[in-house]
Amino acid sequence: MKSDNRKNRDLHALDENGMVLCNPRDPEAAHRAQMEGIATDDRAAVTCRKCLALIYQRDKADHENTKVRNHEKEKRVDD
Ligand SMILES: [Zn+2]
Repeated sequence: MKSDNRKNRDLHALDENGMVLCNPRDPEAAHRAQMEGIATDDRAAVTCRKCLALIYQRDKADHENTKVRNHEKEKRVDD
């Protein structure tokens, strides 16, 4: 054996439910990922491109929600 396969594995992100972000409907995948150490909640360490794309989308959505909430507050103050 000359190479460590684990080094080539993608590191996936976990969501708030402990599920793999790119495979949220598969509890077995989440369990496997955690047992094998190929999932992390440290988003800086994530290498899976699907997970990274989903993190980006969620960040964007959070940002939009914050904007809406602030806007609602402003409206209430105006009234
Ligand atoms: Zn992934």
